[in-house]
Amino acid sequence: MNRLHVLESHEGGNGPTVVVVGSCFLDYIAYVDRIPRIGETLTSKSFSKGFGGKGANQAVAAGRLGARVAMVGIVGSDGDGDEYIANFKRNGVDTTNVYRERNGATGLAMIFVDTKTSNNEIVICPNATHALTTEFLRRQSDNYNRFLSQSCRFLICQNEIPLETTLDVLREAHKRGIYTVFNSAPAPSPAEVGIIKPFLPYVSLFCPNEVEAAMITGLEVSDGASAAKAAKALQALGVRNVVITLGAQGYVICEKGSEPMHAPGLRVKAVDTTGAGDSFVGSMVFYMSKGMSLSEACRQANVCAAFSVQRKGTQSSYPRPDELPADAR
Ligand code: ATP
Repeated sequence: MNRLHVLESHEGGNGPTVVVVGSCFLDYIAYVDRIPRIGETLTSKSFSKGFGGKGANQAVAAGRLGARVAMVGIVGSDGDGDEYIANFKRNGVDTTNVYRERNGATGLAMIFVDTKTSNNEIVICPNATHALTTEFLRRQSDNYNRFLSQSCRFLICQNEIPLETTLDVLREAHKRGIYTVFNSAPAPSPAEVGIIKPFLPYVSLFCPNEVEAAMITGLEVSDGASAAKAAKALQALGVRNVVITLGAQGYVICEKGSEPMHAPGLRVKAVDTTGAGDSFVGSMVFYMSKGMSLSEACRQANVCAAFSVQRKGTQSSYPRPDELPADAR
């Protein structure tokens, strides 16, 4: 389905099937020979400004593939906020529930990308995002009825907006029979882990990377075998299904009632892995919304995420259907 069809289907009264509640940040990306040491000033080789924020990335990853997807989030009252909303529209993402913080700047992420290793370091300034409290969102959205509507079949959340809001929305969506996906990125602090654990039974699919999986389980996670153990430990905490992403090593999937399975990453030349996890999550849920099983959706998401690491930038690196192999369109 191309973007034109997506926009037509929104206008035709078919509501979004995928809803993402999360962050909208502008990315300021400096490409450097190496990550600076404490107290050191480096000059970047090149710079780019792009659209980011884990929630928005995942919505755009799904939207570019043709999902009927809506974003729920907040931007500032500045020009960055205007640009962000236009960006969602260009990528087929419904913005009915993207709010404007009257006195705040849009959230920012300052990113260094090491051009030799393609590793990155990120500092986030949430700005307007702080206003996305449970009270604010419930008030603005008629207690979530405006986005957890009849058409919504999948909810995706991350850990980049106030945590109480994320957990409240997850619980409410679960109560309404919606398939809930929780990507606990960026990694929760030990205090946040304690707050998250009682909510894990409301999560249909928990999708951390290796660092987040380690933080929540207390186990070391570095490869397929250790991720398989962590996936089982997460299920023991009440999560139904688990997918742990492992960067170039691919992912481990563990569905309720089945044994964990490790699928390797595709062998590609990575130039920038920023937002690879978001590419994986957004595309995985897109394929599920098209009726694929979780394991098949993960196989396709592995292709999309591998595509994204071969291009610079975050959302700009995510594939459109005509850029993918025929069986992943
Ligand atoms: P980020 O925080 O940058 O979004 P992440 O740590 O959440 O990333 P990763 O586990 O690094 O996510 O990567 C997600 C997925 O992207 C992997 O499961 C894999 O499918 C793909 N991927 C990442 N890096 C590579 C790579 N070097 N080669 C091939 N595929 C990759």
